[in-house]
Amino acid sequence: MKIDLEPVLAIQEVDLAIRDLAVEKEKAPERLNALEALLSEREAELVVLDERRRELQRKKTEIEDELELDQIRHGKSQAKLTSIKTNREYQALLKEIDEIKKTNKAREDEILAILEEIDGIAAQMDEKRKMSEETRKERDAEKRRLHGLLAEIDEKIASLQKERDEKAASVRKDILARYDFLRQKRGGLAVVEVRQSICTGCNMNIPPQLYNELLRNDKVLFCPTCQRIIYTRSEAIQED
Ligand SMILES: [Zn+2]
Repeated sequence: MKIDLEPVLAIQEVDLAIRDLAVEKEKAPERLNALEALLSEREAELVVLDERRRELQRKKTEIEDELELDQIRHGKSQAKLTSIKTNREYQALLKEIDEIKKTNKAREDEILAILEEIDGIAAQMDEKRKMSEETRKERDAEKRRLHGLLAEIDEKIASLQKERDEKAASVRKDILARYDFLRQKRGGLAVVEVRQSICTGCNMNIPPQLYNELLRNDKVLFCPTCQRIIYTRSEAIQED
């Protein structure tokens, strides 16, 4: 009785297609994950900028408070000038007023610098917000795309699974069991062709005697190296 491996080869073809779809399914969320990571990064950058902005605002308030107190001091000293008796006292007070003025000028400059930095940060934050918004939109679109793609893949897998079950019904049980066992052990490929005495599953040579048996095709044979089920489409016995 001749061995017909065509039905099991047909099953293998379906199984390999299912396996490819499973790989595709596993890889499908990669882009979404990358977009999620990018979005988190952009949001984290916004938080850092916002913290810096708050810190600058606190500092500005502090300086403004100091400035206000010194302006009161300045007013008092100014008022005291009219009641000064001696020239020495007068000079000392003028010097004090002058120092307050200088300090306050420095504080005003510092406030201006802070305001400038706050403006810069606000502009950066606007830019980052826009980028975040774009990434968020991209992420949402990718989420929808992925959802559709996964449903599509699942549908294909279900249909192939059905096809496989139908095909399996017509395969000899012992061959099918051997096939399923090998498929799991050999990463999907369980039935392989022998071409020019070489097993295409492991690229090792098939001994001549086994090759001749293979050509007779009256029993199920296995590669002595990788143990896969082997077949050949060659018509003639090869010369050694
Ligand atoms: Zn082999």
